[in-house]
Amino acid sequence: TTPILAGKRGLVMGVANDRSIAWGIAKACAAHGAELAFTYQGDALLKRVKPLADSLGVTTLINCDVTDSDSMDAAFEALGQQWGGLDFVVHAIAYSDKDQLKGLYLDTTPDNFQQTMMISCFSFTDVCRRARPLMKEGGSLLTMTYYGAEQVMPHYNVMGVAKAALEASVRYLANDLGPEGIRVNAVSAGPIRTLAASGIGDFRFILKWNEYNAPLRRNVSTDEVGNSAVYLLSDLGSGVTGEVHHVDSGYHTVGMVAPDSAPQ
Ligand code: NAD
Repeated sequence: TTPILAGKRGLVMGVANDRSIAWGIAKACAAHGAELAFTYQGDALLKRVKPLADSLGVTTLINCDVTDSDSMDAAFEALGQQWGGLDFVVHAIAYSDKDQLKGLYLDTTPDNFQQTMMISCFSFTDVCRRARPLMKEGGSLLTMTYYGAEQVMPHYNVMGVAKAALEASVRYLANDLGPEGIRVNAVSAGPIRTLAASGIGDFRFILKWNEYNAPLRRNVSTDEVGNSAVYLLSDLGSGVTGEVHHVDSGYHTVGMVAPDSAPQ
């Protein structure tokens, strides 16, 4: 049988190292036959991203900081020149000052509020606008979110507010682009130990809490996020848009934890 993503070309944004969710998604996409390009944030990350790209045979590596509109323009121009078209984009990018991923949300500063919103929410809209002209035959755009958008999670603070805005933007973008056959979705992943997550206060406790209380009684891996992403990025998900799909061992369905389920 033909691999699910055979003949599809996709951009993956947000690989920092082999723990990145973007890397789990890239591996799954490559395993299912996609041709990939990566963007990476600045030269310092290239030495980590290059060997990963090499291992999948990915040769298009583009330096792109989402806060720099020139580098965003250049990235999509380069892709347009190289491929002429694009079938999917994975956006796995977020940032907030880690000093504000603890303590009270109330103490968020205006500068960090703005930067968190720009990088973690607006950059996806900005990516979608740039991808649109390359998706003449339709496409699939995917971003990453977290349950802290829906309910208060300890220390998630301003990032939760940004993820709520990101999830709302997924619905508006899906409606804007649906008439062109371009789908827009998010995966809401359970907690995973990554570089970005290491900035969140008490993250080890959050991991344990999920492990003890999620229906599957374990945490998810970046490979599992990748497999679900393949469904949304491929024609298997052709009827799905504007959706926030949870890949979290079912944690978001639990209303009250069992009395003996707290981490010891
Ligand atoms: P990560 O640190 O591996 O990835 C974050 C990426 O964002 C890095 O590649 C970094 O270079 C990139 N980035 C930050 N600012 C940027 C900028 N200005 N320009 C370009 N790139 C920039 O961590 P991750 O956990 O894989 O994060 C990926 C996504 O998954 C994020 O949106 C995160 O919020 C989301 N997510 C993570 C978890 C988790 O528990 N790890 C759970 C749910 C959702």
